[in-house]
Amino acid sequence: MTRTVYVNGDYLPEDQAKVSIFDRGFLFADGVYEVTSVLDGKLIDFAGHAKRLQRSLDELQMANPVTEEELLAIHRELVRLNDIDEGLIYLQITRGAADRDFVFPKDPVPTIVLFTQSKPGLAENPTAKTGLKVISIEDLRWGRRDIKTVQLLYPSMGKMMAKAAGADDAWMVEDGHVTEGTSNNAYIVKGNTIVTRNLGTEILHGITRAAVLRFAREAQMVVEERPFSLDEVQAADEAFITSASAFVMPVVEMDGAPIGSGAPGKVTARLREIYLDEMRKAAV
Ligand code: PMP
Repeated sequence: MTRTVYVNGDYLPEDQAKVSIFDRGFLFADGVYEVTSVLDGKLIDFAGHAKRLQRSLDELQMANPVTEEELLAIHRELVRLNDIDEGLIYLQITRGAADRDFVFPKDPVPTIVLFTQSKPGLAENPTAKTGLKVISIEDLRWGRRDIKTVQLLYPSMGKMMAKAAGADDAWMVEDGHVTEGTSNNAYIVKGNTIVTRNLGTEILHGITRAAVLRFAREAQMVVEERPFSLDEVQAADEAFITSASAFVMPVVEMDGAPIGSGAPGKVTARLREIYLDEMRKAAV
């Protein structure tokens, strides 16, 4: 089946969808994005993603070409047209096309693109039973990581460094403390306490993070939002990541050394189960 994508108001076969070579997303990475997961043909935490999208746009003084209701309708139509049961919806908005100039163009027309990725087995991912191996790398990204821009070159390089080291992903470290994973938020567990980096400009404000921390507190776990060091990772009982596509995923090794028992932990497994149960119930 040819994938149907959305571009600037039209639903088109993917090979007919076009964007200008002068688009500032292409020339300057002047664009923002969101990834929303689909389970049972429904959107997980759509409202959270729509809210963060608006925040990213506002931070960059970029116009939003669609209302939240229109955005929801487009997401649902793409799920229907592409018959997505489990998968992802990628959304990107850029400042649009203009003659190349560092100065923002006056009254540009934003570009909006959405496409689906079918991922059967997204929720029943076997990696949840085995866990991820990560390496630590220096965090060399820019200083506004709270804005979800399409400048993903360093995270992409980080993933390649991880692969070259025989690992699955990289956790980025700044001033001796973990910021986040290349495309996810990072956590350690010690006893009944979950530690994750506090919100600020140093990390992306994960939509999955917000939900998982809420569920953790409701389950009487202790949550500490603060920077943590690599030594704390090595001394932790468990570690995990969260993202819209991985949900809650155990991390069992850092820089070649096992974390805790070296197997996925109980707290992580419980949070994954609660997250998937609750978010399926609330899906739209
Ligand atoms: N941090 C970074 C750097 C990310 O790229 C992502 C996923 N896009 C996340 C955290 C997780 O955010 P979310 O839970 O909203 O997917």
